[in-house]
Amino acid sequence: MKISVDPERCYGSGDCVYRVPSVFTEVDGFGAVVPGREDAGDDPLVREAAESCPSQAIAIS
Ligand code: SF4
Repeated sequence: MKISVDPERCYGSGDCVYRVPSVFTEVDGFGAVVPGREDAGDDPLVREAAESCPSQAIAIS
């Protein structure tokens, strides 16, 4: 399952990076998916990070 971060919604809280640094990173102060890790959506920690994102910017499809 693919993960994406909507840059229009993200406000750069950094929660996702703190929770799963192997999958999420920070680019110019905003959350982003580490290149090559877009398919890590099955990881329960990633799901948890998506559910906990304060701006609901993380989508798993
Ligand atoms: S948790 Fe959500 S708002 Fe915070 S940096 Fe990650 S994507 Fe952006």
